[in-house]
Amino acid sequence: MSDKVDIYQEVENYFRKQQLLYGNEIIINRPLVQKVESQADVSQPVAGQQVKAVKKNKSGPLYDFYYNINTCKKCSLGDTRTHFVFGAGNPKADLMFIGEAPGKDEDLQGIPFVGRAGQLLTLMLKSIQLDRQDVFIANVLKCRPPNNRDPLQEEIDKCEPYLMKQIEIINPRLIVTLGRFASASLLRTKLALGKLREDMHDYNGVPLVVSYHPAALLRNPQLKKSAWEDLKKIRTFLKD
Ligand code: URA
Repeated sequence: MSDKVDIYQEVENYFRKQQLLYGNEIIINRPLVQKVESQADVSQPVAGQQVKAVKKNKSGPLYDFYYNINTCKKCSLGDTRTHFVFGAGNPKADLMFIGEAPGKDEDLQGIPFVGRAGQLLTLMLKSIQLDRQDVFIANVLKCRPPNNRDPLQEEIDKCEPYLMKQIEIINPRLIVTLGRFASASLLRTKLALGKLREDMHDYNGVPLVVSYHPAALLRNPQLKKSAWEDLKKIRTFLKD
């Protein structure tokens, strides 16, 4: 074919990517109902892209919580975000992964870890026989900091209670923090990631393992060996 776009190939690539990320379920990238956003009433539902992150469980405390917070404007990120990225996965997961904040892809899609780092995370899960639907994936911040700048302390202070509540509802057996930022935020420490990886930690009574952020593994592939050690630790913990 000439230099025309091969639409069939494009479509096939799209569905292969979706299958890698979400399994055989088809996810339609369109609002399910009209968007209704009210600054005054945070319990007003905004049904849209984000709904699919929790739509399999249309009732239940996690879903209710999503509807209570997804119009949050407690910090200025509420004005610049495209989507509030609540989190995605199994609301009764044994294992919860926590990253830093949505990036560009996550902001556009309303789902955490869907960019390059997220695709690596999906593969890392597969290496220990887990799918994204088996775990719950969230971030410390629910909205993207513009230009991927570091989160500000005031943003963390406003947003972290949401994460705490999610953890309380999901009640996982194990939390894995991905990278320095999420680890330092949850453990309230300035210790280096390498040091934190050596120990098992505790977050409000839930065991917590510190591991590398998949973006760091993309930048620095030598770290993959240590990340694999972490994955084995996680797998062993869950088997017990
Ligand atoms: N990095 C994160 O920390 N979280 C995401 O959701 C995506 C990239």
